[in-house]
Amino acid sequence: MVIGCCDSRVSPEVIFDARPGELFVVRNVANLVPPYAPDSAHHAVSSALEFAVQALKVKHIVVLGHARCGGIRAYAEHGTPLSPGDFIGKWMELIAPAAETLGQPPCYADFAAYLTQLEQASIVKTLDNLMTFPWVAALVEGSQLELHGAYFDVATGLLSVRDPATGTFASVAGAGHSKVFAQPRF
Ligand SMILES: [Zn+2]
Repeated sequence: MVIGCCDSRVSPEVIFDARPGELFVVRNVANLVPPYAPDSAHHAVSSALEFAVQALKVKHIVVLGHARCGGIRAYAEHGTPLSPGDFIGKWMELIAPAAETLGQPPCYADFAAYLTQLEQASIVKTLDNLMTFPWVAALVEGSQLELHGAYFDVATGLLSVRDPATGTFASVAGAGHSKVFAQPRF
């Protein structure tokens, strides 16, 4: 299962060179998973997660974040929401716990680096949120399910994976892979 962003530059099937039937994909603004909350609201992401884990019995869940994420930037800039509607502003509140782990944003000269940090901290927070689902936690603790953090740089095409031991993201794909994405068709 891949949890990715809606951003058209970050298609999981393209990045992982997958064919129909190989990936179970959920995409939403800024690749977020809300914490477990079995209440009366309509939970699209949690429903898809439940189906993937309990019915399809996926063995791996990849949270795929990416560089230059408009959702993350909008949150960090505390500007107007991405749209004037009712939903995105509230959705982006899910980034707040990740931002709190980083402290105050630095001066603007370092803002690009801060955004990268926030994009990656948000992946970590989403991995934490996945563990609030009791059936996810039970399977992870029983070594029947693995959670992974990945990060795609839309500018360079580099794909990185988070090392759970060190918490750092390291490039995993070869130069040929990134070259495909560094030369977009448009
Ligand atoms: Zn995004």
